[in-house]
Amino acid sequence: MSMSEDLPQLLGMNREALAEFLESLGCPSWRAVQVLKWLYHQRQLNAEHMTNLSKDLRARIKESTRVDLPKILCENLSQDGVRKWLMRPACSGDVGAIETVLIPDGTRNTLCVSSQAGCALACTFCATGRQGFSGNLHSADIIGQVWIAEGRLRELGDPHGITNIVFMGMGEPLLNLKSVLCAVDVMIDDCAFGLANHRVTLSTAGIVPGIRSMKGRTSASLAISLHAPDDALRTQLVPLNRKYSIGELLQASREYLATLGPRRRLTVEYTLIRGINDSTNQARALTKLLKEVRCNINLIPFNPVPGSAFERPSEITIRGFQRVLLDSGCSSIVRRTRGDEIDAACGQLVGGVSVRSTRSQQATGRMEMDLIRDVSKVA
Ligand code: SAH
Repeated sequence: MSMSEDLPQLLGMNREALAEFLESLGCPSWRAVQVLKWLYHQRQLNAEHMTNLSKDLRARIKESTRVDLPKILCENLSQDGVRKWLMRPACSGDVGAIETVLIPDGTRNTLCVSSQAGCALACTFCATGRQGFSGNLHSADIIGQVWIAEGRLRELGDPHGITNIVFMGMGEPLLNLKSVLCAVDVMIDDCAFGLANHRVTLSTAGIVPGIRSMKGRTSASLAISLHAPDDALRTQLVPLNRKYSIGELLQASREYLATLGPRRRLTVEYTLIRGINDSTNQARALTKLLKEVRCNINLIPFNPVPGSAFERPSEITIRGFQRVLLDSGCSSIVRRTRGDEIDAACGQLVGGVSVRSTRSQQATGRMEMDLIRDVSKVA
């Protein structure tokens, strides 16, 4: 490794880290504000051009840092305006490709970022989970995704820029919490992307210790991927449930929510899979479970994954499920499927890595068939 590869990445440093770094160069920490504004407001990545800093400081920053953006391998635009990038991280080692998705909706531009390359959790219905885990992303590669998407929006003449960020791309953000929280700091810093806390959402499959350590450290929104109203079924869909039960997950989520004040809500994600978790009885069980939790329930009709035996429920079933929730006073929306013809929808992000062995594909297919049989037996 050459010397320059060891240098810190300027992009992705939060204000505190940047201040500390500038102090180490013998310059006052308040200069961090100026550097952040150059990087994220002026989009100037070259320290030599940061003209309100002394020439000498510019030169020192330049020679003692690096700025490496993820490399764009491909950009896809779907008919409904969803844009998906395949990128190669530049600062996270040789982890393969990641995906980033931009979902425009009126005045809103939601960016869905990846926090890891691949994922270790192997949820049975998720394409990312099937490819396995290849590495954590450095905060520079997380912020790099935002920087690139923001630049593209400006190029396209979009007046709003990125308005919301969700960690719902590849990976489990709470298993890469340090880098993720550092990136969140940059997303919400007024001198950087300046998003409101509640417009940045971390979505977790249920890493309870991660939720606990968010308390007091961040005020970002939290989404939990619940997908089932009971532990037996949830364990089959989200194997992590064996480690952290629904009860523990909801308890930790409630405690985190309590640190955010009375107006904030938890998002509960529930992917509806035909014949597995879509019955009205299960909807009723869900309302009981969430009675005491201030939350919005996002119903996500299952998005097909190659080699998967799971199916999306009919529109009537989806609406029927939602009706039960609404009638019992739960706030619930059905998330419209966006970008599915470019495989940009939830659970379809695989980073273009398609080297799965046929055998493991068959094995997963079999597991699902067993699950479908099991469930239809008890139903
Ligand atoms: N690892 C994080 C974030 C990633 S995915 C988490 O688990 O929350 C974002 C959401 O999409 C999660 O709720 C995930 O369970 C859901 N999802 C995964 N595969 C899906 C699929 N094929 N169809 C619909 N939703 C899916």
